[in-house]
Amino acid sequence: MATVLDTTSKKKPKKARPARATAPTGPLPLIGLNREELGQALRSVGIAEKQVRMRVGQLWNALYHHGHKDFADVTTLSKDLRAKFAESFSLARPEIVTEQISSDGTRKWLIRLPSTDPRAPAPEVEAVYIPEETRGTLCISSQVGCTLNCTFCHTGTQNLVRNLTAGEIVAQVLIARDALEEWPTPQEGRKITNVVLMGMGEPLYNFDNVKQGMDIVSDGEGLSISKRRITLSTSGIVPAIERVGNEMGVMLAISLHAVNNPTRDQLVPINKKYSLNELLKACKEFPGVSNARRITFEYVMLKGVNDSLADAKELVRLLKGIPAKINLIPFNAWPGAPYECSEWEQIEKFAEIVNKAGYASPIRTPRGRDIMAACGQLKSASEKIKASQVAT
Ligand code: SAH
Ligand code: SF4
Repeated sequence: MATVLDTTSKKKPKKARPARATAPTGPLPLIGLNREELGQALRSVGIAEKQVRMRVGQLWNALYHHGHKDFADVTTLSKDLRAKFAESFSLARPEIVTEQISSDGTRKWLIRLPSTDPRAPAPEVEAVYIPEETRGTLCISSQVGCTLNCTFCHTGTQNLVRNLTAGEIVAQVLIARDALEEWPTPQEGRKITNVVLMGMGEPLYNFDNVKQGMDIVSDGEGLSISKRRITLSTSGIVPAIERVGNEMGVMLAISLHAVNNPTRDQLVPINKKYSLNELLKACKEFPGVSNARRITFEYVMLKGVNDSLADAKELVRLLKGIPAKINLIPFNAWPGAPYECSEWEQIEKFAEIVNKAGYASPIRTPRGRDIMAACGQLKSASEKIKASQVAT
């Protein structure tokens, strides 16, 4: 049974901070600013130039090493400075609406973000923590909803509301660290060892904010989660793939799901724009790809759609020459889904062909299904505001 902790019922929830767009006079949220932007913020409140670098370091340490939420706790600053900063800046996270804990230990947070449109309800996103024996993976979202409409994905049935800011992307990691009581950033024995951009949204349609967010998450003086342990999953936005290697430096996962264009067109409609051939070419040419830095190919197992043994053989043929790992994902059903999960026996036969070809191909055990936290089940109640806000 899933436990639902309604954090709003314990005490009166703090009002979500208004978005900068609607309330430029409120305290400036510092989460998600890079060092340069933090420096600008400090100059704007009169910090002398010769002190800026040191103060940036103190704020960075407070935010990302100690996880402070309140200037009162930042004892590296003088009392006066704490009070001054508290007037102008904020260390607060977005509001947690609910925290759910699955019977298998998976945790899911529903997070309310400030609305950029005062007439619309505040958008919400989800983040999921999946503990395993040897690691703990935090799955975070990059957009509220998604503009793409993969037919097997619950998030795809929700219209895009907006891109997350770098701060909102980073805040998901802070919220999980808060809940898991993992401050200050431990060197060893961490609960969150890996981060995957596999929650809601297509991260490559929010490239700049995701990049800034991952630069902060991987920063060695803060959260310190190495880029080798951060994986970005894309449905296949081919022109941005090279940039992931060159500019972001995180690991790449591709939502492949089909081995021919007609089936992929149906499952992952962006394939009509960026076909399988182009996608695989971008993978072959992915900067930094090697046997030590393999690309993960995700393949959702859909009964009678993409799970034949001929499909398995074709998969092996297609990936020849690409240092790859294959993740077979049993389809997670959601209300009204037009597909069924493949039979377990079929998944095993499929996996055997892929394994025999020399690929590690773990079948991903579904986690957190009882709280709708498994892959593709994430969907918040946020609705689309305006088509003009759709990311490009
Ligand atoms: N938008 C990005 C990242 C988020 S989806 C992408 O598509 O890659 C994370 C993974 O879950 C993707 O591989 C996605 O295809 C898969 N997924 C989506 N819906 C699913 C479902 N119902 N069951 C199993 N996996 C699903
Ligand atoms: Fe969007 Fe990924 Fe879902 Fe496709 S699978 S609709 S790209 S979140």
